[in-house]
Amino acid sequence: MIKHKFGIAIHGGAGTILKSQMSPAKELKYKNALRKALDKGYSILAKGGSALDAVEASVIYLENCDLFNAGKGSVFTSKGTHEMDASIMNGINLDAGAVAMVSSIKNPVQLARMIMDKSEHVFLAGKGAEKFAWKHGFEKVKADYFFNKHRYAQLLQAKKANRMILDHSEVDAPDKKFGTVGAVALDKLGNLAAATSTGGMTNKKFGRIGDSPMVGCGTYANNQSCAISCTGSGEYFIRINAAYQVSALMLYAKKTLEQACKQVIHESLSKIGGDGGLIAIDKSGNISMPFNTDGMYRASRSSGKKENIKIYS
Ligand code: ASP
Repeated sequence: MIKHKFGIAIHGGAGTILKSQMSPAKELKYKNALRKALDKGYSILAKGGSALDAVEASVIYLENCDLFNAGKGSVFTSKGTHEMDASIMNGINLDAGAVAMVSSIKNPVQLARMIMDKSEHVFLAGKGAEKFAWKHGFEKVKADYFFNKHRYAQLLQAKKANRMILDHSEVDAPDKKFGTVGAVALDKLGNLAAATSTGGMTNKKFGRIGDSPMVGCGTYANNQSCAISCTGSGEYFIRINAAYQVSALMLYAKKTLEQACKQVIHESLSKIGGDGGLIAIDKSGNISMPFNTDGMYRASRSSGKKENIKIYS
């Protein structure tokens, strides 16, 4: 017997993802990766595990898969290095952990969790964050772990055009894709959690940080309302406090999850020219995954139901 309805949703980024540009083999690869990542979290929830452990497990799976712009598949900075960002939030007590600009951590979401669990801080960055990681037993991974020929070609292309590009977008192509990963979950006890992880933008400079590690922008969870993880043009998500805005619309304007999510993506974000999407689950287990791009890699599963894996709109 299910005690409480539970569920999970994950994303692997949004953008100009067109069926016409996708081979069946490539589509299958993405769908299989999404299915496996979803299963990681869902099986934890089904066994009575916490939403926090479920979102962490799904995001770790996606970070280890080089199809997505997070962990192993992270894009290159202008210096040819990697600077990864991640965050995690517990809806029970609004505990949160976040990390930015780390280069030698295999799973940045695990470090975000460690910061939440073992430090008195919420957000650590760069060398200091890595020092904290070594102190807590994290293994230092070499730069070549993150090397990816395709990503390197993207960097050279972006450099030639002197532009910063979003994930897999080709410089001259009209398409934009955001490959950040994230997960949101509701467990059997009625607790919510969210996590997001990213490599940011190809050719980024000056210590640029996007919305993904910013609590309230790319990630938010509150048991009173919902859990959210965003993907898209980070600068815009930061300016509208996208993730927190969904929760606030539910709490203070009494919107449903679906109404709040749509308002944030199709009104607040679109109005200022931002693009991307988000995934959200509320305390009753409703799931919403709106985006204003052509597609978003996404998957969800509610207790007792079949999984739902989609790419296009
Ligand atoms: N939101 C991420 C950032 O701005 C990018 C993404 O979603 O791919 O860093």
